[in-house]
Amino acid sequence: MIRRLSPIVINQIAAGEVVERPASIVKELVENSLDAGAHRIDITLERGGRDMVRVSDDGCGIDASELELAVAPHATSKIENEADLAAIASLGFRGEALASIASVSRFSITSRLPASDAGARLEVEGGNGGLPQPIAAPPGTTVEIKRLFFNTPARRKFLKSPAAETSRAREIVQRLAAAHWQVSFTFRSGERTLLELPAANKPEDRIAAILGTELSGELISIEGEQKGVRLWGVIGTPQVARPTSRHLHVFVNGRAISDGSLTHAVREAFRGLIEPKRYPTAALFIEMDPSLVDANVHPRKSEVRFRDRDAMWHLVNRTIAAALAGRDIVPMYSPGPPKEQSFGSGMRSGFDVSAARAAVAGIPLPAHDRSVPPPLPTIIGPDAVMQVQKCFLVTQDEQGLLIIDQHALHERIMFEELKERLASGPLESQRLLVPLSMPADAAQLDAAEQYAALLAKLGIDATASGPASISLHAVPTLFSSRGVDAPAFVADLLEQLGEGTLPPDPEAALSEVLDMMACKAAIKAGDSLTGEETAALITKAREIDRSERCPHGRPTTMRLSIDELERRFGRK
Ligand code: ADP
Ligand code: MG
Repeated sequence: MIRRLSPIVINQIAAGEVVERPASIVKELVENSLDAGAHRIDITLERGGRDMVRVSDDGCGIDASELELAVAPHATSKIENEADLAAIASLGFRGEALASIASVSRFSITSRLPASDAGARLEVEGGNGGLPQPIAAPPGTTVEIKRLFFNTPARRKFLKSPAAETSRAREIVQRLAAAHWQVSFTFRSGERTLLELPAANKPEDRIAAILGTELSGELISIEGEQKGVRLWGVIGTPQVARPTSRHLHVFVNGRAISDGSLTHAVREAFRGLIEPKRYPTAALFIEMDPSLVDANVHPRKSEVRFRDRDAMWHLVNRTIAAALAGRDIVPMYSPGPPKEQSFGSGMRSGFDVSAARAAVAGIPLPAHDRSVPPPLPTIIGPDAVMQVQKCFLVTQDEQGLLIIDQHALHERIMFEELKERLASGPLESQRLLVPLSMPADAAQLDAAEQYAALLAKLGIDATASGPASISLHAVPTLFSSRGVDAPAFVADLLEQLGEGTLPPDPEAALSEVLDMMACKAAIKAGDSLTGEETAALITKAREIDRSERCPHGRPTTMRLSIDELERRFGRK
C-alpha cells in the first residue's frame, strides 16, 4: 500500500541528511545568523551538544507572526522563485534546516525585531509546535536545542564523545568565521570559552584562526583574477603539507565547500614539491557572480557546481603555481641529515646517526668522526658494497649485479622487524618524564580516544589534554634511536585514523601503520653509510622474505643478471 508520509516523518527524513551531529546544527544556525546580517554570534554547547546547543545573534530577527513559518518545512525568506535559485546570494535557501532540527529535538526559537519592543518565543518538541508566546528578549534571534535525537535513538548512538563533538563544532565555527571576519564570534563549551574572535578588519587575522597560529611563518599569500572571478587567500609551504585534505579549505562566496576538481588543481600546483600521498594546507577564497555557480547540489550545501569548471581549475592551479614559483622552495626528497630531535627531558636530545644505525643493523659501532668521509667498505672481495650518490647500494650475488635503493630496502627490513616484534607483544615504549604537548583537531582527538588500544600496541600513549591539544606520554623507543619526530608522526597517524583513510580491515590497517613507522625510521636517501652499515643491510636483506619490494610495492632492488650483462656487451 502506498501512503503519503506525515509532515513529521518527512522532516525527520530531511533531518537525516542535514542534521548529522551537533556540528551540523551549529553550521545551519550560524549560517542563518550570518544571513540575518548579525555582527555578533555566540555559540554554546553543553556535553558536546547532547544536552544543549544554543546560537544567539544580533541580526535582523523574525517577526512574532512569522515564527511558525520559520520552523515550517520548505519555508524561507531567502528565495522566492526559480530565477532566485539560479543566483543564490545567501548561505541558506532550502528552508528546511529549522524544520528538520525541530523534528528531532526539543527546540525553541526566541526572536525580536530590532524595531519592536518585545520578542516572542516558539517551542517545538519532536516536530510538534505550540504557539508563539510574547517574551522579553534582546534584538536578534536565539535558537536553543535540547535532548537532540531523543526520538531517533539510532542517531543518538552515532554521537561521539562530548569532547569530540565539541571539537567538530568548534571547527565548523572556525571555518565559517574565516570567511566572515567582520563578524565577532564566541564559542563556549559549558562554562569554558573555547573561541573568542573579535571582529577583524583584515581577513589575514581570521585565517590564522583556522589554519593554526603555529603555521604563520609557513604561509604564502596568493591572489589571482580571471574573467571577473577573484581568487585570494593563503597556501602553506610544502613543509606543512598534511596526510589528508582536511586542511585544504575552499570558500565560494563565503560558503565552505569541498570540490574534487579544485583540490586536484591545488595538488597539481604542488606536484613535485610534496610527496604524492600528501595534501597541501590552504585557505582559498573565491568570489564570483552567484549566477556562475550552482549552490543547489547538496543537502548540506557543501558542494557547488561551477558553470565553467575548467576555468576555475586553471585559475586556482595557475595562481598557486605562480606563487610557488616565486618562492625559494626546497623540492622533496632533498638529501639532508635527519632532523634534530626536540624531545623534552627524559629523552635524549639529539641523536647519533651512526650509533642509531648500528643499533638497528645490530652491529658494533666503529668509533669514527662523522666529519671525515666514511671509510671505504671494509669487506673486500665478492661481498663488497658500494654506496652511490648516498642513495643507492651496488653489490653482487650469484646471479649478477644488484642495485639497491637504500631507503626502500631499510624500510622493508624495519617493516618486517616491527611486524615480528608486534607478534610477541606491544612495541618497546619509552615514557616521557615531561609529556609533549601537541596541537590537535577534532578528528585527531577522536582518533586518540577511539584507537587507544592500537596506539598502545605501537608503544604510543597519547591522550587529550584540552579541547585542541594532545599530550604524548610515551613513544616507541625506536623513535629516539632512529631520530623520528614523535609529535609529527603521531599527528599524521591520528589524522589518518580520524579521517578513516586507512583500510577498514584491522590487519591491513596495522600493516599500513607499521609501514608509516618503518618509512619514517628508515635510512633516507642522502644519508651516507659506513661499510659496516651497508654490509649489515645486505645481510639483513638476505634474511627476510620479499626484500626485493618495499611495503609500498616499489622495488628495493634491481638485478642485472650475468646473462643480461653478457648480452649487452655483445658477448652472447
Ligand atoms: P533557510 O535558511 O534555508 O531559509 P531555515 O530553516 O534555516 O531555512 O530558516 C528558515 C527561515 O527562518 C529563514 O529563511 C529566515 O527567514 C528565518 N531565520 C532563521 N534563522 C534566523 C535568524 N537567526 N535570524 C533571522 N531570521 C532567521
Ligand atoms: Mg538556514
